Amino acid sequence: MKLPSVLVPLCGDGSAKYAYMACQMLLLWLLLVFTFTAVSVRGVEFRYHNQFALEETLRNFTKDYPGITSMYSVGKSVLGQEMWVLVLGKHAARPALLVPNVKYIANMHGNEVVGRELLLHLAQYYLSQYGKNVTLTRFLQATRVHLMPTMNPDGFSNAEQACHGVTGRGNALGYDLNRNFPDNARDDSNPQQPEVTNVINWIQETNFLLSANLHGGALVVNYPFDSYPGDASLQEYAASPDDDVFRHLALTYSRSHRNMYKGVNCVASFEQGITNGAEWYPVQGGMQDYMYRNSSGYEVLIEISCCKYPRQDQLQGLWEDNRDALINFLLEAHMGVKGLIYGQSSKVSDVFDIVGGAVIQVMGREGIQFRSTALGEYYKLLLPGTYTLLVSHPDFVLTTVPFEVTAGRVSRLDVKLMRSSGSSGRMQGPGGDWGQERRTGGAAGEEKEKSLSGSNSAATLGFKFLHQLWFLPQIISVMVTSTVISLSVLGCKSDLLNFL
Ligand SMILES: [Zn+2]
Repeated sequence: MKLPSVLVPLCGDGSAKYAYMACQMLLLWLLLVFTFTAVSVRGVEFRYHNQFALEETLRNFTKDYPGITSMYSVGKSVLGQEMWVLVLGKHAARPALLVPNVKYIANMHGNEVVGRELLLHLAQYYLSQYGKNVTLTRFLQATRVHLMPTMNPDGFSNAEQACHGVTGRGNALGYDLNRNFPDNARDDSNPQQPEVTNVINWIQETNFLLSANLHGGALVVNYPFDSYPGDASLQEYAASPDDDVFRHLALTYSRSHRNMYKGVNCVASFEQGITNGAEWYPVQGGMQDYMYRNSSGYEVLIEISCCKYPRQDQLQGLWEDNRDALINFLLEAHMGVKGLIYGQSSKVSDVFDIVGGAVIQVMGREGIQFRSTALGEYYKLLLPGTYTLLVSHPDFVLTTVPFEVTAGRVSRLDVKLMRSSGSSGRMQGPGGDWGQERRTGGAAGEEKEKSLSGSNSAATLGFKFLHQLWFLPQIISVMVTSTVISLSVLGCKSDLLNFL
């Protein structure tokens, strides 16, 4: 590298040879330092960012890391402030097949502000580690991470710095956004707010597999259901069909947090730092139940700090408390099973096309229906074990496929659906042929043939649904490939409860 000609005269006429060379080297070094400083990444300070500073910080990320970031707004708040989202990962710019979307939403309650700041630091940490930390790099190559630092910018603008209280909790019209989602038990006299409509549209457009909603005022992970099915006011444990998965996700966070697992007593103490929502206190119109019931994904609510709006000098400590937990929680998007759904062509019998909108269920945990995307993808988080996938679609024969999930990896299971005989839109009814199952399983590529017959098999499998609906599935060819990625890295009860 040569010194630019404009700087050469600064070192004199060259009559003193060694002094001239030393001068040139010094100038060159200063130039390199200046250049490096000018293009180096702008850090996020441990201070509160208002709406303008927050937007500027997100834009800086997209300028500093253009290949692995993108940014968009899901819409505007009541007062017209944008609800920004930063996307991170190799596929940040556009969705990629079988690459799951995950998200964190913070600051839904405008006066619970810690998550708003931590998501900026999380973004910086992910980006700075890309290409350096093997686990995080692989994660960002295999995942699209969406971060919404504030769901309630208007509430934040009104909020006052205080550990407790409700000033700024609601949106500009005073509505609690975490009581405003569609829910049979919700009081419909509350009109749906723009911030909620924006998030509903967002999660219908983006197939989020795993999400968390960051709040403040306690230290606990709260998982579905938030209200007891059939009795929304009942304060009892309301287990969802995926209760084991939710408990695992919640424990992943609480155990990775520096203190949460110990059951720290802010406003209440929780065993292992986790709780079922309805058991803590019933909530109607909450976001996590809506997400789980309607969007083919899993969501929990995490209370990440005892103080809702702490002093600025506490932000760094709170980041260090939560950093590993925030990272480890999202890594769990890569467990269970995922794959593609194909359906027999209506024109050529041996041709199979991608099928979107197929209902995906796991036997024994029916009740929540996930659906394949327009690209034919589906995902289901599951703990290690043996399961049976149930795939249904009006145009095809109901199909069941057994499969295994092993620890530390996600199983790949693609399913081919046979077109139902007769008119479309009907399932094959009683008397149909179970057919044959052909399963290619595991890394060893082992194959085995197994025939099932009629209701005996259904009874053996304990598949009450089949009997009740008179459906008989035809089990067809499946491909099971294992491991796409394997990753290893790395409050308040009574009246107060309603204000977390
Ligand atoms: Zn809250």
